[in-house]
Amino acid sequence: MNKASIRIGFDFDKVFADYPPLIPSKVINYLYKKHNHKLSYRIPGRFEQKIRVLSHHTFFRPPIKRNIEALKKITKEKDLEIFLISSRFQFLKERTEKWLNKNNFKKYFKELYFNFENQQPHLFKDDIINKLKIKKYIDDDLHLLMYLAQKHPEIDFYWIENNFDKDKFDLPSTIIPIKDLEEFCNKYI
Ligand SMILES: [Mg+2]
Repeated sequence: MNKASIRIGFDFDKVFADYPPLIPSKVINYLYKKHNHKLSYRIPGRFEQKIRVLSHHTFFRPPIKRNIEALKKITKEKDLEIFLISSRFQFLKERTEKWLNKNNFKKYFKELYFNFENQQPHLFKDDIINKLKIKKYIDDDLHLLMYLAQKHPEIDFYWIENNFDKDKFDLPSTIIPIKDLEEFCNKYI
């Protein structure tokens, strides 16, 4: 019997790699976006890139252990294909490689995709999700998921929820809020 595999995509930052300790996520998310009421992400200038490279030192991006433990369980399930789809820009390539190697992380995925050509993150993710025929996709960025959900009614999206975005949106039925990957693994696999 040849059952087709289900393809699952995971975001990277704030799903597996945490934000720097002591800085509220709200502040970091604010810096990542433009604020003109359209979904649009900033590509930082040279100086800010240097600061961002520093802040992406593996020391400041601790692995989110709970989620990685859940990922390990998920990878043991049959008939799943697991992909990493991250919109990290090109200037973070080296830092990203270091993190992946230090945490021995590539082995969990069939393929890993990063936005090293610096597209707008939501357009990049839309492209990859299309190309890979992803069926379930997990991310912490609700603005981005709202964009993707509207384009892909056939895909189940899972939002790792946070308190500050919670009340701002009416979630469509295809965006399912989850506390963490443990919950995703227990209820939706
Ligand atoms: Mg993220």
